Order: sequence, then structure tokens, then C-alpha cells
Amino acid sequence: MLTASSPKPLVENVPGRFCVLDSCNGCGLCMSYAIHSFTFDDSACFYYVYRQPEGDEEAADVLRAISVCPMDAIQDGGKSN
Ligand code: SF4
Repeated sequence: MLTASSPKPLVENVPGRFCVLDSCNGCGLCMSYAIHSFTFDDSACFYYVYRQPEGDEEAADVLRAISVCPMDAIQDGGKSN
């Protein structure tokens, strides 16, 4: 059931397959696995997708980040092709 507190994608994410939700706790693990796709916002202490991964290797890095995210805050919209 959706509630008012359901996590939502952060507006800072670039459009595309992956996005970070507002349930992110700012731990930074995702960036350590996929620095090519995640960065952080200094003021609010959260991370977001600033660049979608290119190619299978970079996508695999992001999938690893998803597997270690303690908040399940990284969403995979799935391959579009
Ligand atoms: S690993 Fe998850 S909780 Fe930690 S900064 Fe990244 S998106 Fe946020």
C-alpha cells in the first residue's frame, strides 16, 4: 500500500534507468561502488545519480551499489531495450 511517506525519486537524479530515492541516508556506499554515476549533495547530505552508467560494466557497478545500499534507496527502472 502506498502511503504519504513512500520514498520518491530525488529531483536531482538525471533521467534514465537508475535513480536514488528520498529514503537515502547519505552513507556514501553507492559512490564507492560506482563513482561514475553517483555523487553527493553537500548541503542536504544525500546522494543521487548525476550520470547514468554507460555499458554493461558500469551498469554492473550500479547493480552492486543497489545490492549494498542499506536503505534500498536506489531504484532500477530496468533496461529499456
Ligand atoms: S548507498 Fe543507498 S543510502 Fe547510501 S548514499 Fe547511496 S543511495 Fe543513499
